[in-house]
Amino acid sequence: MTALLLRNARVEDAPDPTDVWIRDGRIEAVGRPALDHPDQPEGPGCHPGHPERPYGHEELDCAGRVLLPGLIESHLHPDKALLDLAHPHAGGTLADAIRVTAELKAGFTHADVRARAEQVLRMCVTHGTTTVRAHPDVDPVARLTGLEVLLELRDSWAELVTLQIVAFPQEGILKAPGTAELLRRALAAGADAVGGCTYGEHSLADCRRHVEHVLDLAVEYGVPADLHADFADDASDPRFALAEFIAEQTVARGLSGRVTLGHATSLGGRPPSERRAALKALAEAGVAVVPLPATDLFLGGRGDTTAVRRGLAPVREMWDAGVRTACSSNNIRNAFTPYGTGDLLDTALLLARLGHLAGPADLRRVLRMVTYDAARVVGLPEADYGTHVGAVADLVLLDTQDYDAVLIDRPARTAVVKSGRIVARSTRTTELTALPAVGVEAQ
Ligand SMILES: [Zn+2]
Repeated sequence: MTALLLRNARVEDAPDPTDVWIRDGRIEAVGRPALDHPDQPEGPGCHPGHPERPYGHEELDCAGRVLLPGLIESHLHPDKALLDLAHPHAGGTLADAIRVTAELKAGFTHADVRARAEQVLRMCVTHGTTTVRAHPDVDPVARLTGLEVLLELRDSWAELVTLQIVAFPQEGILKAPGTAELLRRALAAGADAVGGCTYGEHSLADCRRHVEHVLDLAVEYGVPADLHADFADDASDPRFALAEFIAEQTVARGLSGRVTLGHATSLGGRPPSERRAALKALAEAGVAVVPLPATDLFLGGRGDTTAVRRGLAPVREMWDAGVRTACSSNNIRNAFTPYGTGDLLDTALLLARLGHLAGPADLRRVLRMVTYDAARVVGLPEADYGTHVGAVADLVLLDTQDYDAVLIDRPARTAVVKSGRIVARSTRTTELTALPAVGVEAQ
């Protein structure tokens, strides 16, 4: 049995701090009345009125800091992370990034992938992420190396982070013979979801067959589907206007609520009436969209010589249309995204900047895109995720007392709690070592 008492924690946007009692990995009580005088024993080794709460628990005074549910990376590629030093000059387009990474992938070894993936998980966990949906490449080049590494890490890192694994056919399915069989092997080996990558295919017909293949596998194996799709500045090439088709095929297979699209940047480049129709179809089909702003901004607009586009799915319009959304980091330090620290709050703030989102209401919604909304996208049960009694105690304590400053300040993660245990701590100290002069007349 493990027990943890978080004293004086400001639970999300609550006006006053309170105490949070955690036992056996879940939140057992929130509030002071239930926790009066916990250090005064009533019986041997027990709390007064609560014989089920033995002493010997760990205790942390949160000093009024904000406590949030753990952050959720709903779309990440740990197997391809941290390749920036191996090939720093990719060219900057999506095609360049795929080509360069495919070359590097040919040299991947189990040990190399594992070392980089573990480093990324360390970066994510220390920044307060407690759940990661990972997309390892599954194709004739990478074969199952990334998937096998992540299956190992799903077990060995389980006490620090929950890993979901998506079998991801980066090189296409029809374009890369052998991939269909590898996807089946990945699902049989224990992948949690089937991925897709429509823009890897040569024609619109092949893109559609790719979508059908992935969704059919989702039905056959009883897993969610998570596709990379519509990743272009606009939809002038019809291979990048698949949103409505994916929505239609999702409904046809009874997969509503279990299909996600990553990127979907071309939605932002389609004419308003088309865009509204596409968003309506996605919302009605229960298809989620996950913008990946660090990658979308870096690779987007590369063909523009004036008025360079930002290449981002239309976040506010998706909210208004009722499309389920989350926001995630995608790649960290490779040809797709040569930046990143594993701090999901950095990514969320980038989304706010790119999406013209500001003010407390917008920023609160953006924060939800890396917490509650992301939990829905990756399928965590509502009863399990959050700061309510009964939830799994996956939490992050931030070094601020102001909920509305979380995104703007991105404060230190004072403590990260996974299943009721503190797994990371951070402190950040800054001081002014000189003061402005007092009483000097302005010249
Ligand atoms: Zn991705």
